[in-house]
Amino acid sequence: MKINIIGGGPAGLYFAILMKKANPANEITVFERNGPDDTFGWGVVFSGRTLANLREADAESHAEITRQFEAWDNVDVVRGDEKISVRGNSFSGVSRLQLLKILQRRAEQLGVAINFRSEINDIDSLRADCHLLVGADGINSTVRQRFAERFGPNLSIRSNRYIWYGTSQLFHGLTLTFRESEAGVFSAHSYKFNQTTSTFIVECDPQTWEQAELATLNEEETRAYVEQVFSTDLRGRPLLSNNSKWIKFVLVKNARWAFENVVLMGDALHTAHFSIGSGTKLAMEDAISLASSFRRHPEVTSAVLEFESTRKPYIEEYQAAALESMLWFENVRQYLHLSPIELAYSLMMRSGRVDHEELKKRDAGFVMAYEAVIRRGETLWAPRGRDERSTL
Ligand SMILES: Cc1cc2nc3c(=O)[nH]c(=O)nc-3n(C[C@H](O)[C@H](O)[C@H](O)COP(=O)(O)OP(=O)(O)OC[C@H]3O[C@@H](n4cnc5c(N)ncnc54)[C@H](O)[C@@H]3O)c2cc1C
Repeated sequence: MKINIIGGGPAGLYFAILMKKANPANEITVFERNGPDDTFGWGVVFSGRTLANLREADAESHAEITRQFEAWDNVDVVRGDEKISVRGNSFSGVSRLQLLKILQRRAEQLGVAINFRSEINDIDSLRADCHLLVGADGINSTVRQRFAERFGPNLSIRSNRYIWYGTSQLFHGLTLTFRESEAGVFSAHSYKFNQTTSTFIVECDPQTWEQAELATLNEEETRAYVEQVFSTDLRGRPLLSNNSKWIKFVLVKNARWAFENVVLMGDALHTAHFSIGSGTKLAMEDAISLASSFRRHPEVTSAVLEFESTRKPYIEEYQAAALESMLWFENVRQYLHLSPIELAYSLMMRSGRVDHEELKKRDAGFVMAYEAVIRRGETLWAPRGRDERSTL
């Protein structure tokens, strides 16, 4: 079978690997507009379950990924000068650049052709020249736009803004930090993904954005502003920019995922808010799912339709959980009156994927402390020590 894949991100590369492994006679080409080293982003997060799926799908790349990763089991919630840790979670972080390097090497070793610096605009010619055309071309997918009538895309641009930084300050565990300034509220999502660097994503609502006049600041001024908001947390370490800009999250859905010999995967097909850290995981698990549909249905149209019918219910459920998580962060102001332990509890419950009993299994001590606070009725937050409102 001849397969053309547009996009050499995690979805496209991993699907190429799995299809070449399944049948070395498959002739597979990945077309990627960037060079092998021109990537963006810092770390990506995988859960314990995702790593098990990756091991089962391709033990070789799994071994490489887990050699480079940082594992942790705590979610830390920071408010004022208090930090609440919730243990018993299983996550790991790996550098996005390292991950792409591992997948590129593995794909090339298996005999996949990766055409770097080749931007595809003529989708029709590429489609006519293969048995299967895969649109793994990310959130602004050209394949999705070219066949919009067939896929029925639905894009919703959210109101909050966020910016993706790195930092050399190491956050051991997924750390969710809330800081208030005179302009409003800023939330940070951070975690270390190797021994020297953490991802540091900052989010704010439209009122905060306006009030802080962030639209008037250039890249350097923006970085300095955010460093000052989180000065306590960064402890004098700088934020690292990689062309980092404030952007709005775009929620992508598609009514149909495939037709004839064309299929979408990864961010081109669906997005899930970064607060549940799953864009890369979902992209790679799409590849696993589509490759296994081909094992059951060697005929292209049947395989892509089976991928849609088996994977879509899972993605819809996942997007529903991610939506709850996104709404929590969009409405963060309404939770900031809570005591830190209640805030942490609310955060752990926000997506509906973890319930009280599950949380008790993960961290019985945390749940006992939460129940004691509720019994005593100490649910309102009062800053301890210094006033945490800065004068920014
Ligand atoms: C600014 C930003 C930073 C991010 N940082 C992180 C992060 O640090 N950690 C994390 O977990 N997630 C991050 N994400 C989300 C993450 O990138 C995605 O969820 C995940 O990579 C999805 O994988 P994918 O393969 O579907 O798409 P992508 O990783 O987006 O890959 C798509 C690829 O297609 C290529 N492409 C697009 N159009 C064409 C074309 N016409 N011709 C040829 N090539 C094309 C692109 O260059 C890209 O390499 C970030 C997203 C954004 C917008």
